This record gives sequence, structure tokens and C-alpha cells, in this order.
Amino acid sequence: MIIAVDGPTASGKGTIAKALAAHFGLPHLDTGLLYRAVGRQVAAQGGNPDSPIDALAACNFADALLADEILRSEEVGGFASRVSIHPDVRHALYQRQRAFALQKGGAVLDGRDIGTVIAPEADVKLFITASVQERARRRWLEMTGRGIDVALAAIERDIAARDARDMGRADAPLIAANDALVIDTTHFGRDAAIEAAIEAVALHTGTA
Ligand code: C5P
Repeated sequence: MIIAVDGPTASGKGTIAKALAAHFGLPHLDTGLLYRAVGRQVAAQGGNPDSPIDALAACNFADALLADEILRSEEVGGFASRVSIHPDVRHALYQRQRAFALQKGGAVLDGRDIGTVIAPEADVKLFITASVQERARRRWLEMTGRGIDVALAAIERDIAARDARDMGRADAPLIAANDALVIDTTHFGRDAAIEAAIEAVALHTGTA
């Protein structure tokens, strides 16, 4: 069974994808990490994330980078959003994601274009969303909890800018697939969101 989980930044899609993987006993790939690794590598190489040539040159990052905590920073998230606009970058990362999706036994992948581009044949597609204000609030709580001093308004601006870039790009824009089940987590806590996603997958695929 292939489960595609897409949605904007801080919507809860990563948490939901991990929980689905554990519940249904499937391997999980956070595809945003691949774009974050390219974003980080381009910066480390002194390149410009907006340059398709510099960004493509950063696609041959070492696998060890995927485990580096630095990838989770807001700064690297911003670089990731900028490099992900380039079709050559998306093309370079395609095969790795496609192979993961097609592995025997199935998989859960989360990202922006899993249901539309990477695995359009997925057995079930979820599109996880929430209001910009709620996503900013969650990100702010998480960051201040880690001791990072940041203004809520600045996070809200950042999230809105990333949404605009992810939805506005010509190649594989962030959009719910026609056959995706949309789950709005604005008024859900973590457990309720996970429960709703498990129930949606179970109902849609006839799996308990
Ligand atoms: O999900 P995450 O915030 O880690 O993704 C970082 C950035 O990578 C996103 O803002 C998006 O621009 C890009 N991305 C993408 N396609 C994916 C996953 C992530 O374009 N499948």
C-alpha cells in the first residue's frame, strides 16, 4: 500500500505520516528532507539557492547530511523552498523518491507533490492543511520551546511566503490531487489529527 501525504509547511503532515507508517507497518520518507539537504549544501558551497546551476550542483549531497539536525532550521527550510522551484532539482530527486514509493510492501511518503507527481497511483492520498495563523502558532510554540527567541508575526510572514512560493511555482506546485482526502487540522490537537488520518486511510482502503 502506498500512502501519499501532502500539505503546506507546519500543517502536521510529517507527524501524521510518521504515525500512519507506524500504524500500518510501512517505511516512511520525509521528502522535504531531500530538498532541505540540497538547500543546505548549496549554502555550504557558497552558492545561490535561486540559481538553477548552483542548486543542481548541490544535489549530490552525502547521505549523512540527511541526519544532520541543521536541516530542521527555519533558515534551511527557506533555502529548500527556493531550490525546489528549479525543475532540474526536482528531476534529480525524483528517482530516489519514486524507488522508495515502489518498494515491495508499500510506503508512506510526505511532501508537496507525492500524490500528484511522485506516486499518482498511490492507494490513498491525504492533503493535510491548517490556517496560516494556526500553523504559525504551532511553529512558534515549537521554536520557543527549544529556546529560540522569535516573533510570532515573523513566523507568520515566513510561512505565508513559503506557501506562496510552493503553490505558485510552475513545476509540481503544492496542490491537492483531485482524488486526495483533505484533512484540515486547524481545530485538531495532535492526537485527533492522527486519529482522523488513520480512520481516513482505513476507510478508504478497507484496511483495519
Ligand atoms: O516539508 P518541508 O518543510 O521539510 O519542505 C521544505 C521545502 O521543500 C518546502 O517548502 C518545499 O518547497 C520543498 N518540498 C518540495 N517538494 C516536496 C517536499 C518539499 O518542493 N515533495
